[in-house]
Amino acid sequence: MAQYGLIEAGGTKVLLGVSDAAGAISARHRIATTTPEEVIGAAIGWFHENLPHPTAIGIASFGPLDLSPGSETWGHIRHTTKLGWSGADVVGPFSRAFACPVGIETDVNGAALAEARWGAGAGSGSLLYLTIGTGVGGGFVSDGRLLHGLSHPEMGHIRVPRHADDAQFAGVCPFHGDCLEGLASGPAVIARWGCSLSELPQEHAGAAMIGWYLGQAVCSFQAVMDPARIVLGGGVMATPWLLDMVKAEAATAGGGYFVGDPAAVVVGPGLGSDSGLLGALAVALAL
Ligand code: ZN
Repeated sequence: MAQYGLIEAGGTKVLLGVSDAAGAISARHRIATTTPEEVIGAAIGWFHENLPHPTAIGIASFGPLDLSPGSETWGHIRHTTKLGWSGADVVGPFSRAFACPVGIETDVNGAALAEARWGAGAGSGSLLYLTIGTGVGGGFVSDGRLLHGLSHPEMGHIRVPRHADDAQFAGVCPFHGDCLEGLASGPAVIARWGCSLSELPQEHAGAAMIGWYLGQAVCSFQAVMDPARIVLGGGVMATPWLLDMVKAEAATAGGGYFVGDPAAVVVGPGLGSDSGLLGALAVALAL
């Protein structure tokens, strides 16, 4: 029976798993994210013990990644502030250690594939997954295929209009200042109000402001991609009342123009805590 090696690489931890094609995870392991040499060495060691002959290995990793077809550094981490990881080859060591195909996608693209296949988008044909947390990112799946350009999309860095009461805040994106990530990510919330969104009372002006920004973003993504489902995940979206606020703001911003009503299109994630590993499985199954 086909058995897949799963790797979910995050900024603080790397999760490993073994599963069948249906997503039944039979073994799992957790490694702290230290240096690439330590993490990749430990992961290869664990797979040698737990799945010496994988059918394929899927990696869903933090980025930015080089996913340009034909690039000499395909599967490497691009520039990053994570110490030691800039330029790290994530795929090569696994390809050399195991005689099987190894695939890689960004963590958000992996989550989009998994949500489209098994989660909130199952049967819907097209799905946009947006994560709003430490960073903001997005992946779009249409008929089971991910949207790629030169590399992977960087949807968190779109420009959004300024909220009328937010003119003084410079934004926290080191590259663009006040892009969507710069204005609506977790660090942008903390930079303005000193706490996370879930710690603010719902009636706080900051709560409405973040809901408004995300509503503008959803409206823009509807205009560009017209997804049947827009899944909003990530730490900021764990704020219980935020989803309904974003739906309402997106509906107002869209003016009833789009086929998809945000009240029905915009949803929370359908997969639980295994969504990252299932994303890695979706990457492996696509090989
Ligand atoms: Zn940016």
